[in-house]
Amino acid sequence: MELFQQMVEMGHERVLVCSNPDVGLQAIIAVHSTVLGPGLGGVRMWPYGSMDEAITDVLRLSRGMTYKAAAAGLNLGGGKAVIVGDPKKDKNEALLRAFGRYVESLNGLYITAEDVGTDIGDMEVIQHETRWVTGVSPEQGGGGDPSPVTAFGVLQGIQAAVAFHFGNPGDDALDGRSVAIQGLGSVGYNLARFLREAGAKVFAADIDSKTTDRARDELGVEVVPTGEILEVACDVVAPCALGAVLNDQSIPSLRCAIVAGAANNQLADERRHGLELHNRGILYAPDFVINAGGLMSVYSELVGYNRDTAMRLTRGIHDNMARVFEISRAQSIPTALAADRLAEDRIGRVKSLGGQHWVRSVRRRAAEI
Ligand code: NAD
Repeated sequence: MELFQQMVEMGHERVLVCSNPDVGLQAIIAVHSTVLGPGLGGVRMWPYGSMDEAITDVLRLSRGMTYKAAAAGLNLGGGKAVIVGDPKKDKNEALLRAFGRYVESLNGLYITAEDVGTDIGDMEVIQHETRWVTGVSPEQGGGGDPSPVTAFGVLQGIQAAVAFHFGNPGDDALDGRSVAIQGLGSVGYNLARFLREAGAKVFAADIDSKTTDRARDELGVEVVPTGEILEVACDVVAPCALGAVLNDQSIPSLRCAIVAGAANNQLADERRHGLELHNRGILYAPDFVINAGGLMSVYSELVGYNRDTAMRLTRGIHDNMARVFEISRAQSIPTALAADRLAEDRIGRVKSLGGQHWVRSVRRRAAEI
């Protein structure tokens, strides 16, 4: 009964519990909303300690995907899947194929992709059993690693934030601006490159000294100790490593005007810390809006992958972000809340049309494959 209650409270449409003891598969697929389109979201493989933990995670993550797709203006709903197990020990072909059959059984209501514990290779195994897979390699018609696209989207968000915060809507130039990047991984490194090309001064920190050495030598980035990166006096702090970095300890030490980076779930407590930043006059670019480039990249696989389409969609993050800031200003609410309202308004408006407008295009895709 608890699951029904959680589904009602969080607004989920469907939860599929998958068990195939022959291959050791225990998985849950959650479809939160299909109002705007099929529920797309990655499949996470993780050694959850209990069924409750796995359910809580999949319900939370799938709802997050609904908001992310809606705010991004994509014709996608929200879905996510979890496979219970250790990806290093328990993953094998039969298990992934069994999972793929469950995905196929939903007939396009849920579309999968990689997430923590799964990768492009796994998607190509799952693809043997279902056509409802994205995040595959360019050889298989996919877009490959979405990180450069994500970084390009973050750049758009930073530009929109700079234009808004410094009160010059037409002027989003980064020449002479300063940005402190936490984490020079797949997204952070590409972001550092884009920012340097745009003429910004870049500070960066990473626990991996090989990466920071490379960024200093190749990009002219100023390396900062990991414990100090969030406290650098600069225009923008860009968290591109871990979640929950905006918390009771870090917020009072921030010396930036803007926080805008790729990391998921940056606010330790979404409501409280979003409000804290708002009250301090620090402009926060909500993570699920600014880091939607990766989702836009996999979305464009559904319509026949093309790098230009992915980049064109990603440029839209500039306007999406500006809209969030305008809502925040007009309603005097934190930007995190404004982003939720943007997503909810779009879903509400499309819902009022009635029916599922996207079904025909999905059926057409099914017929093509
Ligand atoms: P990644 O694992 O390639 O990079 C993370 C980097 O952060 C690594 O270089 C790591 O050494 C560094 N790091 C870890 N702890 C650190 C610390 N305490 N201080 C400084 N650096 C630290 O990951 P990624 O793909 O670049 O993603 C970065 C973030 O963006 C993640 O939160 C991810 O969920 C989010 N994100 C990524 C994408 C994408 O397309 N890759 C899309 C949306 C969101």
